[in-house]
Amino acid sequence: MSDDIPGKPMRIFGVKTHHCLDIVPTPSGDCDWCEEPIKEGEVGFVMDSWAGGEVTDSYWHRECLMRNILGSVGHQRGECSCCGGEGPGDPPDMTKREAAKAAVVEYAKKEQKADLYDMSQNARRHTS
Ligand SMILES: [Zn+2]
Ligand SMILES: [Zn+2]
Repeated sequence: MSDDIPGKPMRIFGVKTHHCLDIVPTPSGDCDWCEEPIKEGEVGFVMDSWAGGEVTDSYWHRECLMRNILGSVGHQRGECSCCGGEGPGDPPDMTKREAAKAAVVEYAKKEQKADLYDMSQNARRHTS
């Protein structure tokens, strides 16, 4: 590992689901996404945050990070404003944490049904 690169690689807490990441103790602090306190037994990631010009640790629940990669439930259904729809991204009756979990479930359901042909159709619709 080079000293020239500032910052540390992503670390994991809770359960070591990614063998390439170092496991660290469950941090005491709030999740950067849902702003709920991280609880013992939850799974998530510790990352460097450069906000404010200084490196600090930022904590993410696993689902909260995945929600940011996969998109909200509304986005995955093509109903939110960035997809040309009028619906909300996250379900309005849920907390941010619940909505993040729902987005992961939504994705898992879709992936079970999807074949590669459907997924490429979707990708085309999104970029047009
Ligand atoms: Zn969270
Ligand atoms: Zn969208």
